[in-house]
Amino acid sequence: MPYQSLTLPEFAAKFATTDACLEGIIARRWPQGWKCLKCGGHERHRLRTRRVLQCANRTCRRQSSITSGTIFGHAKLPLPKVFLAVYLMTDKQGISAMALSKHLGCHYDTAARLLRLLRRAMADHDRSYALEGVVQVDEAYVGGHGDGRHGVGRSRGTKRVIGVAVEQRASDISGFVHVDVLAAANANSLHGMILEKIRTGSRLLTDNWKGYCGIGDKGYDHDPIKSPGKQRASLQWPLVHRAISNLNRWLLGTHRNYCLRHLPDYAAEFCWRTNRRNRSKHDHTHNSREATLPDRLLTLACTQCRQKTTKKKAA
Ligand SMILES: [Zn+2]
Repeated sequence: MPYQSLTLPEFAAKFATTDACLEGIIARRWPQGWKCLKCGGHERHRLRTRRVLQCANRTCRRQSSITSGTIFGHAKLPLPKVFLAVYLMTDKQGISAMALSKHLGCHYDTAARLLRLLRRAMADHDRSYALEGVVQVDEAYVGGHGDGRHGVGRSRGTKRVIGVAVEQRASDISGFVHVDVLAAANANSLHGMILEKIRTGSRLLTDNWKGYCGIGDKGYDHDPIKSPGKQRASLQWPLVHRAISNLNRWLLGTHRNYCLRHLPDYAAEFCWRTNRRNRSKHDHTHNSREATLPDRLLTLACTQCRQKTTKKKAA
């Protein structure tokens, strides 16, 4: 049931009622058809008063919740509003919690919590991806004041340090992008990110910052190039610099007064939407009728949920 190229009014009309939303969730949660976990039967009916499917086998009658274990089960909003939030979040520039609360007519905290749940589903889903081939890696600073490069060495001041890795598919074509919020721009943090997100055997393109020293001994082809200065560095590693600049623009444009505490969640959303945009643009092995972002996020919301966050890795 693809929702390709549905306009906002069409989407809102399609999922205007709780019943329609529940049918949408059932179709995505059990794409091969529902199966009873007790008797293995496929016949079922939906209870009208509760969000539950009941096995049609008279001797079984096992019930399964439609929304528990999904974001829809945790969201404190009517289902049509959650569906609408998914659509609005996948708009080109995304949406802030403040704007979403105005669109849905709900409290800011409720909108912020829903966006956080969706971002963490994105993070969980993308955790399995690893970058490979030729990968540009750099670190950058977000939040706070100034450009972050002033000060002693690479001290961050009020900013947070992020590590950014971008696959270089051709001289000017990006593959997958990964952004990690780091404890510091040191070898411990940078090596940790590289080892976790980039397959060994890949070729790493970095500047000669000491934080990258020794990574070549850990299974990577690493040839650091002396940084030629800020202006020329962005020409030398254009893909990773473009990703950093896009992330900064998106944070300042859509989220304005974003909280640095939630930076890992924002980074997860940025990577999720960038990676899907890059893939549909450049990977011609994919079907041209590939699902749109609202499709993908709805499926994610139906199948992936992490209510409590585990602390991000320390490095
Ligand atoms: Zn059954």
